[in-house]
Amino acid sequence: MTICFICLSALNCAAQTPSADKPHHTHSGFRNVTEYEEHDFWDFLKWRRERAKKEIPGPQSYDFPLAKNNPDFLKQNRSMNTVTWIGHATILLQMEGYNILTDPHFSKRVSPVQWAGPERVAPLGLALEDLPPIDIVVISHDHYDSLDEQTIKKLRQRPGGEKTRFYVPLGLKNWFAIRGVDKVVVMGWWDRHRDGNLEIIAVPVQHWSKRSIFSRNKTLWAGWVIKADAFRFIFVGDTGYTAHFKEIGERLGPFDLAAIPIGAYEPRWFMAKHHVNPAESVQIHKDVGSKKSVAIHWGTFLLTDEPLDDPLKNWLPLCRKIRFPQKTFWSSNTAKPSFWTESDRDHLIFNTPQTHTDSHGPYARPAPAIRLRLPRDNLAEQKLSSRCAG
Ligand SMILES: [Zn+2]
Repeated sequence: MTICFICLSALNCAAQTPSADKPHHTHSGFRNVTEYEEHDFWDFLKWRRERAKKEIPGPQSYDFPLAKNNPDFLKQNRSMNTVTWIGHATILLQMEGYNILTDPHFSKRVSPVQWAGPERVAPLGLALEDLPPIDIVVISHDHYDSLDEQTIKKLRQRPGGEKTRFYVPLGLKNWFAIRGVDKVVVMGWWDRHRDGNLEIIAVPVQHWSKRSIFSRNKTLWAGWVIKADAFRFIFVGDTGYTAHFKEIGERLGPFDLAAIPIGAYEPRWFMAKHHVNPAESVQIHKDVGSKKSVAIHWGTFLLTDEPLDDPLKNWLPLCRKIRFPQKTFWSSNTAKPSFWTESDRDHLIFNTPQTHTDSHGPYARPAPAIRLRLPRDNLAEQKLSSRCAG
C-alpha cells in the first residue's frame, strides 16, 4: 500500500470492461473475493492520526551497507538461474536464459513526484544501468511503489529496451499506451500466456489499486507465475494473507523459487488486509509449495509504522524456530557482496549477503552495519511462531 500523496496524481487508468461471470469484476473495476471489508477514508485518517503520535524511526536511523555487485556476470549470463534482490519488490530473475524484472522501481521516492514522498533508505542492490538486457517485466498493481513511471521510461530508453515485454493486470494497458509502451500483455486472474519457452500466468492475491482520487480499484492486482520446463517461479506481489495461496500451490505448484513480501504490515488493524507480516509470509511459502523463497517488500522505503528493519528481526527467529531446511527462505539487507552457488543440481545462484551458520544451518544475516535488535519479547516471538506452525 502506498500512502496518501498517491492521490495527488491526476493519472488515471481505464478500467477493464467487467465480466459478469467473474466475481472479482464489478461494474466499475475490480474487488477482492476473499473475506474482505474495504477500509474507508476515515480509517485512513485514523491511521495517519495514530501514526503522527508514534515515534517511528526515520531514514537516518538506518545504515544499510552497500556492497559491490557483479553486473558483468549478470550481463553476460544466459545459462544459469540467478536471483538478485534489488530493493523493495524489485528482483532480477535470470531464469532459463530470460532476464526478468518484478515491479521495477529504481527511483529515489515512492511518489508521483520526486520532491516529496517516502525516500529510498537502503541503496539499490543493482543500478539500472548495470542491468542485463531485460526481456520481461511483470507488474503486480498500480501503486507507486510497484509501478514507477520514471523507471518504466528509463527501461524503455536503454539499448534494446523497446523489445521488453510488460505483463500487467487488467486495466493498465492505457497507462502504458499513453507512455508509448506497446509490448504489453494485459491479463486477468488465471489467464495464461506463452512467451517463448515460458508460460506466464496471472494469479489472484488480496490487495487493491489506486493512483489518483478517481481510480480506486479501477485496475486489477495480481501475482505472477512464470513456468519453464525445468523451473517454476512465483512473484506474490503485494498482498494480504488469503486462501488463494493454497489454491495456487495446488493448481500451479510446487515452485522452485518464490518472491514473497515480509514487510509493511503495521498497524495490523489497517494493514493486515493488504500486507502480510513475516509469519504470514512463511505460511505463503508453505502454501504455494516453494522449495526456496526470497523475502521482498521490506527494508527499502518507510511506508508503514514498523521500523524498517523490524521484518527481518521477526522473520529470522521465526525461520529458525520452525527449523526450515537451510537456505529455504532467504533475505539480505539489500547489500549484495558476492554470489554463491546453491547447488549444481538446480543452478540457482543467490546474490547474497553474509551468511551465518548455526545449528539449524546457514541463514542470511544482516551485515554488521545494520542496527539489529532482538525481538521485543519472547511472547511476541512465540505468537509469531505458533501462527506459522500450522
Ligand atoms: Zn500496493
